[in-house]
Amino acid sequence: MARDERSVTPQSEDFSAWYNDVVFRAELVDRGPVRGSMVIRPYGYRIWELLQADLDGRIKATGHQNAYFPLLIPQSYMQREAEHIEGFAPELFTVTHAGGKELEEPLVIRPTSETIIGEMMAKWISSHRDLPLLLNQWANVLRWEMRPRMFLRTSEFLWQEGHTAHATAVDATAETMLALGFYQDLSVEIAALATVPGEKTPRERFAGAERTFTIEAMMRDGRALQAATSHFMGTKFAAAFGITYTGENGTAELCHTTSWGMSTRMVGGVIMTHGDDKGLVLPPALAPYQVVIVPIGRGEQTEATLSAATELAATLQHAGIRTHVDGRPQLSPGFKFNDWEMRGVPIRLELGPRELAARTALMSRRLSYRQPEAIPLDAAPELLAAELAAFQAMLARRAADFRDDHTVVVNSWPEFAAAVAVGWALALHCGEQACEDEIKAETTATPRCIPLAGEPEQGTCIRCGKHSAYGKRLIFARAY
Ligand SMILES: [Zn+2]
Repeated sequence: MARDERSVTPQSEDFSAWYNDVVFRAELVDRGPVRGSMVIRPYGYRIWELLQADLDGRIKATGHQNAYFPLLIPQSYMQREAEHIEGFAPELFTVTHAGGKELEEPLVIRPTSETIIGEMMAKWISSHRDLPLLLNQWANVLRWEMRPRMFLRTSEFLWQEGHTAHATAVDATAETMLALGFYQDLSVEIAALATVPGEKTPRERFAGAERTFTIEAMMRDGRALQAATSHFMGTKFAAAFGITYTGENGTAELCHTTSWGMSTRMVGGVIMTHGDDKGLVLPPALAPYQVVIVPIGRGEQTEATLSAATELAATLQHAGIRTHVDGRPQLSPGFKFNDWEMRGVPIRLELGPRELAARTALMSRRLSYRQPEAIPLDAAPELLAAELAAFQAMLARRAADFRDDHTVVVNSWPEFAAAVAVGWALALHCGEQACEDEIKAETTATPRCIPLAGEPEQGTCIRCGKHSAYGKRLIFARAY
């Protein structure tokens, strides 16, 4: 079949070209005028809104409140926590002029908001009765990006950042794990990703954190994507910003803080987990349109099928199914079928004169568009709700199977190298940075996480043969 201008590069030919074709042709994004910037188009933004709505519900249901903090941060704030500024310095955007004059103190555009929120927490917390303080903000952040990629790495991106303060390390650790749980549940239940929750090794920690936890998802090219992170800060930021409370015995104590975030990068994870050579495949929970109806008919039939399609759409909308009628008169049904297939719509319905006469519609699922089946119009809402639920579950299962099929327990270097060429390796490692560097230089794989669910195990390092660290196997993979 000749490749027309709407088709995409096959994944097996060039995964990264495939990704670019999909994000632009499915009209998820466009390039912004500034290098590394991204315009999120309505179809892409709707996916983000659906992710956002689900996560916001989880955040609020556990007692957190949304607030909003300024975009501009005094440069001096960033410098108060040494590791934090060291980690973020290469990515900062700095504002030196305003109103035509040079500023006395430069302002930093937030790369993350620990510092400004820490400053406010110090002001708002005085006694143990003010704790825990559970805040979240939905915002944009800017981090200078040398090798931009739509959704995955852009200089400006959207995210939520949770920031909390607690009396004890135990409470703050429990909060860190609670937030990680939001991300893991959202990934599996809503995005249908194959994620593994785990802890980052010291070198991969967030700048200024004592412990960093992550969910790592496997993409269809076998690479890992860090889909969200949750950090336990201990008392580091509390010490830098004076976040203290008066304990029950009257002494001033440092708070223990956390932060946790999920960004528009998650949309990239959805694309690279489910998509295929035909284009995007969207889990119903995140599909802007769960069902698209294509009315078919020529001449005087046109009006009858279009009005039946509109009526069916209203019924489905009423039943809570996001439905769209593609009534574009100038385009052929074949073009529309290809278009919605490429844009990842879970279910397509065809409504022609023959179907109308029989009170049916022809239903096709995104992964088997070539095998339509007739469904009775009267039962369409119940049938389609069940189909969408089944499609969502199938995608989650397919992603988990793919991850499991491409994850190998390895005990020798050749096994390791073979595993990370196509997927993930579960390996013991000595924990030394020089050894990690060697592994990266030779295979481009890095330690992604120490899985929470991993069994305790000791032995020798996969690379250098020294005694293993961490007490468990790590996931190594090439990563985005
Ligand atoms: Zn080693």
